[in-house]
Amino acid sequence: MMDYHSDMIAEDVVGEMIRRVTGMAMLYGVQKTVTNWEFPEQQEAMPFTLFPSLMPAEVFTRTRRVHIMFQTLIYRVANDHEFMKKCLKDVLPVDDFTQEFWNIYNTVREEGPAQEITLTLSRDDFMMEPKADGSKGQDVKQVEFNTFASGAGGVIGAMRDVHRYSLNVAGFPLKEDQLPENCPSKGLAKGLVKAWQLYGNDRAVVLFVVGIPEPNSPDQRWLERHMFESEPRARVIYRTFDQLIQASKLGENKELLVDDYEVAVVYYRYGYSPKHYPTRKEYDLRLKMERSRAIKCPSMASHLAGCKKIQQVLAEPRVLERFISDPVTVAEIRSVFVGLYRLNQDGSSSAVIEKALANPDQFVMKPQREGGGNNHFGAELKSFLEKIKNTQELSSWILMDRIRVVEHRNRLIRVGLGPECRDVCSELGIFGVHLSTPGEELENFECGWLLRTKPVEANEGGLFSGFSCLDSPFFVDV
Ligand code: ADP
Ligand code: MG
Repeated sequence: MMDYHSDMIAEDVVGEMIRRVTGMAMLYGVQKTVTNWEFPEQQEAMPFTLFPSLMPAEVFTRTRRVHIMFQTLIYRVANDHEFMKKCLKDVLPVDDFTQEFWNIYNTVREEGPAQEITLTLSRDDFMMEPKADGSKGQDVKQVEFNTFASGAGGVIGAMRDVHRYSLNVAGFPLKEDQLPENCPSKGLAKGLVKAWQLYGNDRAVVLFVVGIPEPNSPDQRWLERHMFESEPRARVIYRTFDQLIQASKLGENKELLVDDYEVAVVYYRYGYSPKHYPTRKEYDLRLKMERSRAIKCPSMASHLAGCKKIQQVLAEPRVLERFISDPVTVAEIRSVFVGLYRLNQDGSSSAVIEKALANPDQFVMKPQREGGGNNHFGAELKSFLEKIKNTQELSSWILMDRIRVVEHRNRLIRVGLGPECRDVCSELGIFGVHLSTPGEELENFECGWLLRTKPVEANEGGLFSGFSCLDSPFFVDV
């Protein structure tokens, strides 16, 4: 197999390469929007790695397979009211935000939902570990499973072209199958179009619920573009919570009406953070949309099934077996789990709390939140855990083993990091589409990946909230 290394490139040509590759990244559409009220859609390049990262292809085959199993698992969880209730029992009394979501879910459940079909566009995030037994190859371990507003499936689709170009400029040879095509937004768009078709009204639209200003807007535009290319009749409208509070209502048969449009599918790219709900009106809006006949992407049940608390309970002994009877599938799913621990005040967590206080670098502490920047690591984990270990709030958090990442080398083109070749690690997200009724899975497929790479010393790997850069895998034998 051909091989190369980012260290192999001479320092005096790096500046020129960055200029050329950044220009090409803009041209290919690897862009984000910079906040600017005067010109609302000013773009700049997203942070990216100068070269693709060397990876074993097998890791991708395996995680893509696991992701499809996981989509079925999460679907079954979301349809198991008693299980969800039990999982979240200790969380809800001390976590108002999750409680609000639960209330919306439960209200609609008791009323009887107006729409049976649910669409989930998910992203399953993994990190690679050296094999525990020291042998060649890599293990994959799950970081989290996202069911809500899973982003970057659009912009990542252009990275392969950018990296083919950067390798070419540097004179590194490649075989085409080492840098494979990857276009998650095509698959995600297919899911949205399929849901729109099932709604059964050609004049109804797909509502993208967004924030404005929104750095991610080019990523959303990629999805819209692929929808447009495959089914131009499935028209898209973009609305913020504020606009929807003003201009949405339910029709006679619970149709979701926004201005003059009937909505077939509500696709949430906003609404995952308490900051998005400054007043009661935002929760009321969410309830209104949940009650409607529109197909939600995702439904509140599927949103809640993506909670970290659920992930933690699924990793407990004999829990997977409640949902999956095939032992091979159970074993394959379980193989991607690291240790996940519940935090309770009843004494059952004392041992793991002791351990985390003594070795905070071996753990991550997580609340029921999304969007990055909410977790605790290292010394900060220790002081935070000390502070809340005797409070009720403790049970709204989970502890997780810190994944011992595989380190490699690359150059990160990101403001504030500098382009020198450095030790980095990667996080691999697998995108998928799941369309279902409570009784039947209508679609379950995966549709490509997001590879993000950050300095090894950085804790969080968000593209906007952390230090990550868009990357591509360059497949090599291990
Ligand atoms: P969020 O929902 O906010 O994205 P995540 O669970 O994805 O929360 O955590 C955010 C980031 O923190 C991840 O992208 C990853 O870089 C890092 N991280 C999370 N869990 C672990 C872990 N167990 N080991 C190492 N890093 C982790
Ligand atoms: Mg995450």
